[in-house]
Amino acid sequence: MAENFSARKIWNYSPDEPISYNPLFDRPVNAVKIFNGMVRRWISISRFLLSVLLGFVIYQYLTPSLQTMQNLAADWVLFIFLRNTALLCLVAGSLHLYLHAYKVQGDRFKFLKREMATNNKNFKFNNQVYDNIFWSVASGVTVWTGYEVLYLTSVANGWITVAPFADHPIQFFVWILCFPLIRGIHFYFIHRLLHHPFLYKHVHIIHHLNVNTGPWSGISMHPIENLIYQSSPLIHFIIPSDPVIVILHLLLVTVNPAFTHSGFEKIMNKDTKISDSADFHHQLHHKYFDCNYGNMDVPLDVWLGTHHDGTKEATEKLRMKKRKAVA
Ligand SMILES: [Zn+2]
Ligand SMILES: [Zn+2]
Repeated sequence: MAENFSARKIWNYSPDEPISYNPLFDRPVNAVKIFNGMVRRWISISRFLLSVLLGFVIYQYLTPSLQTMQNLAADWVLFIFLRNTALLCLVAGSLHLYLHAYKVQGDRFKFLKREMATNNKNFKFNNQVYDNIFWSVASGVTVWTGYEVLYLTSVANGWITVAPFADHPIQFFVWILCFPLIRGIHFYFIHRLLHHPFLYKHVHIIHHLNVNTGPWSGISMHPIENLIYQSSPLIHFIIPSDPVIVILHLLLVTVNPAFTHSGFEKIMNKDTKISDSADFHHQLHHKYFDCNYGNMDVPLDVWLGTHHDGTKEATEKLRMKKRKAVA
């Protein structure tokens, strides 16, 4: 039974069905379901295709030449920092204005009823949105730029091997298909680590102050958390790929969370869906903390006993588990 049928209405909106994971891991294997799932999540998601296109545009037109990047210099590093800041402002800023400031779709598909916090001293400047913008830019974009600069200057100097699209087109698409798996596995385990009591108290707490999340909450994290969370693209230092793949990987890690934390499951234009947005799976993590550490692309939460499918029964189970841990 969905939680909204319980005596106390927790959510303004919650999906009718319990959360389901990537059908790739269902047993017995159901090829049709896997194919449909792949189409839905990887191919038909216009946002993802736009990100691939954006990766190309950024590398071709908004990245300094390899010759320039052979030597570390403040001007081109600052250019990448400002370019990344502008990109995040464009995406998170537009989503914030559309969904939260101007409330174009009202409360439709909004998980929690409450608004972004103001006059709350838990947040910098006593304001949740300003706090989130501060951490997203000062911490999130700085770390993003750091990883990108490290990669690009390594390519420019020939310190690492690349696999250009022109010579390795299949490898390029294999990377794209593997992103959900790589990110799903990486996110689950680093997230479990961040919930170690010491790291939670001193680092991860900044992200978790946002029980109610908005687009700017996505990479609103302590710098140490951003260093850990954004580390999955380091895999490209070991396994060669096209630089566009690395830029795309970083975009998925940094810009995509503006959608997944937007607080709204769908973005609507009147009655037409423009895009999927936040996922209830991660919203449940922000609400209950001890569940749903991963994402829906790899069912590690199911395999490792930390799954919450959004039902009242799952909430009860989690409460019992907490009570037992305290006793
Ligand atoms: Zn989060
Ligand atoms: Zn967490």
